[in-house]
Amino acid sequence: MSCIFCQIISGKIPGEIVHQDDEVIAFRDINPRAPIHILIVPRKHLAALSDLTEEELSILGKMGGIAKKLAEREGISERGYRIVVNCGAEGGQVVPHLHMHLLGGRQLSDEMG
Ligand code: 5GP
Ligand code: ZN
Repeated sequence: MSCIFCQIISGKIPGEIVHQDDEVIAFRDINPRAPIHILIVPRKHLAALSDLTEEELSILGKMGGIAKKLAEREGISERGYRIVVNCGAEGGQVVPHLHMHLLGGRQLSDEMG
């Protein structure tokens, strides 16, 4: 099992986990780009958004709902935050296990790439 996120999910390597349920886990990014930087990750190894089947797409709604709740818990909901899903090489995806970034706690740049 070479996938780094699968190893965090299975507990083989540590992660600062802030949420877990039967389908999704969330942990703090090891290299935070903002005061709050959390990764929301399906337990199932799904490589990228572009690989999802119609049936698998619903996981994105679940991940979005968890991002919303974590933003509230982290105290950034009223100030605002950003969720990002990088897909593939030109999208900037480095870890090939689907994940959503929750970023906040500072004014984010208006750049979209
Ligand atoms: P991507 O560029 O693929 O969208 O984002 C991958 C993210 O995973 C990066 O922000 C990176 O800092 C984070 N990351 C990579 N390896 C680890 C790790 O071992 N632990 C944690 N917590 N985050 C990681
Ligand atoms: Zn994986």
